[in-house]
Amino acid sequence: MTDSFLCFHGHFYQPPREDPFSGQIAREAGAEPYHDYNEKITAECYRPNAMLGNFDHISFNLGPTLAAWLAAHQRETYERIVQADRNNVARVGVGNAIAQSAHHTILPLARRRDKITQVAWGIASFEHRFGRKPAGIWLPEMAVDYETLETLLAAGLAFTVLSDEQVRGYTGGRAGPYRVRLSAGRSIAVFLRDRYISNQLSFDMLRFPDSKTWAAQALVSRGPGLSLVATDGETFGHHNPGGEHFLHNLLLRDAPSLDLQIVSLAQYLADHPPQVEVEIWEMSAWSCGHRLARWATGCECTPGDGRWKGALRRALDNLASEIDLVYVTEAQAVGADPWPLRDAYIAVVLGQMDGPAFMSAQGLGGLSTAAADRLLKLLQAELYRQRMYASCAFFFEELTRVEPRYSIANAARALMLVREATGEDLSHGFRRDLAVAVSSRVGMTGMDVYDTIIASAQADGYVQVPLYPR
Ligand SMILES: [Zn+2]
Repeated sequence: MTDSFLCFHGHFYQPPREDPFSGQIAREAGAEPYHDYNEKITAECYRPNAMLGNFDHISFNLGPTLAAWLAAHQRETYERIVQADRNNVARVGVGNAIAQSAHHTILPLARRRDKITQVAWGIASFEHRFGRKPAGIWLPEMAVDYETLETLLAAGLAFTVLSDEQVRGYTGGRAGPYRVRLSAGRSIAVFLRDRYISNQLSFDMLRFPDSKTWAAQALVSRGPGLSLVATDGETFGHHNPGGEHFLHNLLLRDAPSLDLQIVSLAQYLADHPPQVEVEIWEMSAWSCGHRLARWATGCECTPGDGRWKGALRRALDNLASEIDLVYVTEAQAVGADPWPLRDAYIAVVLGQMDGPAFMSAQGLGGLSTAAADRLLKLLQAELYRQRMYASCAFFFEELTRVEPRYSIANAARALMLVREATGEDLSHGFRRDLAVAVSSRVGMTGMDVYDTIIASAQADGYVQVPLYPR
């Protein structure tokens, strides 16, 4: 038996697209002949990879928001992906799917209690789909700090994945797993992806005539231990047409012919506990080398004037604090512990129970109908306030793109729910903060974007209680 191992990990995720008022996805330009990019990428990537059985042989995470969409709209593909994990459990005793935090928030930029919620909701979503506890978790953009790793450990997770440039004490070449020391003598395992060969597949796959040529160049002389290719799953079929066959041949033909044994991360960890300790570079990520500035203040990862990013984040942070204050006050007034209550609320989001059943399960069944409705509305506001932090809003160069608009729309939905629940209108301050976020390309501000969102929600009849501007 060979002592050379290879793992392909696919991060399957799409920026969420649902309008937070209607729950519908608008027709998207560029997705033709499909209605939207979820459909297009399913046809190009998720479905063909599922039909070829590729999910059985890779390690993967399926973003909770994408999983929910696939479950509702692409049932066969969804079921094949879930079944791949079950097949691994049956075959080697360990599943090959790992969790992902819920809304693709850049966790080091989030407060601790939001880290806890994002991880708890990601784990709950995983258990809902895969019917078992996850051993590992994918961090959005691999963004990491020690508080994030402490949060993972406290949630019962054993490992995550980073890129090799994100750690100190790494001697190169092998994926580990390595040990990262945390507080109180505890530690967590991290796998390190091989940045060079991972990026080669992501960005240059089509320069190789076939997978065998790539494997002969990239995978020979690997030596003992584990090599890890970790990329966006959409690399295989969407970003690179035909990539699903490239992957299939690598997994089933080329790697074995080079005496490389294909494994999943969880399976490898079970047999190879970490031996070597490394330290992480805090505030690092796989797709920005500027201490997370891509999602915080703007950096040269995206061209042009990115100052709107800092202004948008300030607007979201201020609104989040205001929503939290309203929610915490209301929760405490009825004797509830606000943060554990919020963590548990994912059961309603996943459709495991309705609002009244949730209140009973939380020991709040004795509340008046009015008080229960108020608290449930504020919990819903907390959901949308989490969704507004999807990292995609900050990833690109332009404020008026669909991703920042999604973020602002979720903020609008959250503050509308606060207004309906308590009569408090948080939109004045939010609009003022958004006015500071300016698109230097088209001259629009975040406030202009917000106003168009409210106008269209009003026209569609979603605004029950008037919001400023009236
Ligand atoms: Zn950057």
